[in-house]
Amino acid sequence: MSNNKITIYCDGGCGQSITLKKSKVHKVDYYFCDTIKHRKNCEKVILSKCPKGYMATFSYNVAGSFSGYSFEKPSQDDLKRVHNAQMILKYGTDNENHKNS
Ligand SMILES: [Zn+2]
Repeated sequence: MSNNKITIYCDGGCGQSITLKKSKVHKVDYYFCDTIKHRKNCEKVILSKCPKGYMATFSYNVAGSFSGYSFEKPSQDDLKRVHNAQMILKYGTDNENHKNS
């Protein structure tokens, strides 16, 4: 009867878990309780597992109230976006056309 249910534990090590239908669980590398009490610590633990040069992708509600992180090697496009963002942080943008778009 409970065969289609699965228990997910927070990978931040806080011991929080959630049991729900398998079909409601999205696949991510790490599950994250995302509770006010544990958020900071668990997130730190999970992000510390991210290999160097990889990008952490965050998703909301991957398993009920749990959020998730996946670590992926950034694509050329991602790297370009990061570079552009860094340039904007450094120099600002003189193109205001993007406002409110
Ligand atoms: Zn947690």
